[in-house]
Amino acid sequence: MNDTIRTVTCPGCGKAVAWQAASRYRPFCSARCRQLDLGAWASEAYRVPTSPPDGDSAGGDQHLPDSSAGR
Ligand SMILES: [Zn+2]
Repeated sequence: MNDTIRTVTCPGCGKAVAWQAASRYRPFCSARCRQLDLGAWASEAYRVPTSPPDGDSAGGDQHLPDSSAGR
């Protein structure tokens, strides 16, 4: 018999979340944490860690081979 409710840690805030049907946002504790996590993930994904556009001064010289296309 396993009547002990299994709990997981919410990746958003670290709160213990009961792993049961009632916790529809598991492993998150709430919809907010899930949204926050998804948002952070999206931000990380969209943020391309390329070199900053230093030579962005007025020049008109198209010397930017790296257009960072794709995802
Ligand atoms: Zn949470």
